Amino acid sequence: MLLSKHPRVRLAHLPTPLEPLERLTARLGGPRLLVKRDDCTGLATGGNKTRKLEFLVGEALARGADTLVTQGAVQSNHVRQTAAAAARCGLRCEVLLERRVAGVGPDYERTGNVQIDRLCGAVVHFHEPADDMNAEAERLGERLAAEGRRPYVIPGGGSNPVGALGYALAALEIVGQLNERGLVVDRIVHATGSTGTQAGLLAGLAAMHVTIPVVGISVRRPAREQAPAVHELAVRTAALLGAEVTVPEAAVLVDDRFVGPGYGVATPEMVEALRLAASEEGLLLDPVYSGKAMAGLIGLVREGAIGPDETVLFIHTGGAAALPAYVDALAD
Ligand SMILES: *Cc1c(COP(=O)(O)O)cnc(C)c1O
Repeated sequence: MLLSKHPRVRLAHLPTPLEPLERLTARLGGPRLLVKRDDCTGLATGGNKTRKLEFLVGEALARGADTLVTQGAVQSNHVRQTAAAAARCGLRCEVLLERRVAGVGPDYERTGNVQIDRLCGAVVHFHEPADDMNAEAERLGERLAAEGRRPYVIPGGGSNPVGALGYALAALEIVGQLNERGLVVDRIVHATGSTGTQAGLLAGLAAMHVTIPVVGISVRRPAREQAPAVHELAVRTAALLGAEVTVPEAAVLVDDRFVGPGYGVATPEMVEALRLAASEEGLLLDPVYSGKAMAGLIGLVREGAIGPDETVLFIHTGGAAALPAYVDALAD
């Protein structure tokens, strides 16, 4: 798995720490929990999109782009990291923020990630919910090109084969840390949304012939839609890795029982997980992704699907920058 043949810009603080969660482990009565701190990638508060952007912006610069274009929900962590990556690389940035979450307060469109998008100099366009926001972003790219700019359009979440290379490389990093410390992990758990994180991990693990099950806790779509989407991207990413990497359909594990009423909508289990992680470990999760993923992990432990003698690696994908926008949902 030779990733150095793909253009890449260094944006992330790597390797991210891999740490034990001893108090949370004790509080749950097992399993042994470890956390991969991909919330600590460092770019304007960090998160999982930074790994993808290393390869996406690498390709943008190789093509001579002068502007990054992307889209996401209003409180998108991906958009925030893209805005910061553009700033770091001297590129302009225009973003579409989809009003995907209903019933939010008046500050939702100015605090948290939106505030950081603007601080980083991104031009922000709010957008009503649409069926195909990636197509809307492509149209914005075409408009900018007609004005003489050289846009590079990044799909939502940075989830295409180039972006997913970042998580193939993360798989290599994780396996290296486990080997170095003599740790054996029975399962990896993380939030899955636009699919690139799980797809990249699966492609990277397959390339190394490592068969640790990876459970994606869906934050948006039902498993019957999410799992095939993850698989499709994993296969395309494996093809980009070059070698004869195969990702079987059965390797894609998605649990959709922790979404609650919908994307970005609080659930009591998410609030409990957020409070537990913060009060037991000083670990800040977020309401949309990592909080629901931890709620899923806790739910799987309580129902006995994850046994007390297992070792589980939770990938903290970031997102705490959105906390100010959820002040009401998290109020006592
Ligand atoms: C985007 C995101 C995810 C989901 O990752 P995908 O690659 O989109 O599936 C998880 N957690 C956080 C905090 C995110 O911003």
